[in-house]
Amino acid sequence: MNLMHDLQRAIGILGGTFDPIHFGHLRTALELYQSLDLTEVRLIPCFQPVHRKLPVASPEHRLAMVKHAIESETALKVDDLEIKRKGPSYTIDTLTAFRKKLPQTPLCLIMGIDALLNFPSWHRWEDILQLAHLVVAHRPQYQLPQTGIVADLLKQRLKKNAAALHEQLAGNIYLHPVTSLDISATDIRKQIARGRSPRYLLPNNVYNYILQHGVYSIS
Ligand code: ATP
Repeated sequence: MNLMHDLQRAIGILGGTFDPIHFGHLRTALELYQSLDLTEVRLIPCFQPVHRKLPVASPEHRLAMVKHAIESETALKVDDLEIKRKGPSYTIDTLTAFRKKLPQTPLCLIMGIDALLNFPSWHRWEDILQLAHLVVAHRPQYQLPQTGIVADLLKQRLKKNAAALHEQLAGNIYLHPVTSLDISATDIRKQIARGRSPRYLLPNNVYNYILQHGVYSIS
């Protein structure tokens, strides 16, 4: 058991395809950083997603778009470890690497309720809970399950107080409401493909990057 005074404050980890990054991702990361008093939130673009089809933009473009999006926000950092590692981007491998580098830092894996509902299908999900807390960004359209593995997990591990995230290295689940922004990367890509502007759904400099590099243009 780790003693509380040995621990650093927790950091947040938000993985995704970020194809492209948009205000839904950024606002969630910033609100959780502030509300949970995290040291930082790391945005980690995957190389190859495990649970979904391949991204449209290259890893290099997706990484560059995240860098542009967070350039004036010190609370948010980008990490290219999954892109450098290549291959399927398993969360367990990423958390194992973090735990080695930061042995005394609680890790908060940020996910939406939709992801929590599928969590028992993730590769080595029980081991993930040995390495990180789950911080669930609550969006009102999703209901928590009453029965099944996730319901049991919530019964055993749900904490009411965010302090629990800083007092243990891993293993707790914490739900926090975030501003609901109904923005999706798929929709942004569709709008661009139809020749419409996605402005005000994502940072201007990310949209400028997309235009400049023809990231989603059909050639
Ligand atoms: P797509 O539309 O292609 O599925 P996405 O934006 O939903 O893209 P990712 O880039 O993989 O998907 O999302 C990364 C993380 O951000 C996931 O945990 C996802 O639940 C969360 N997320 C995505 N969109 C939003 C949003 N509008 N508000 C809050 N969180 C979001």
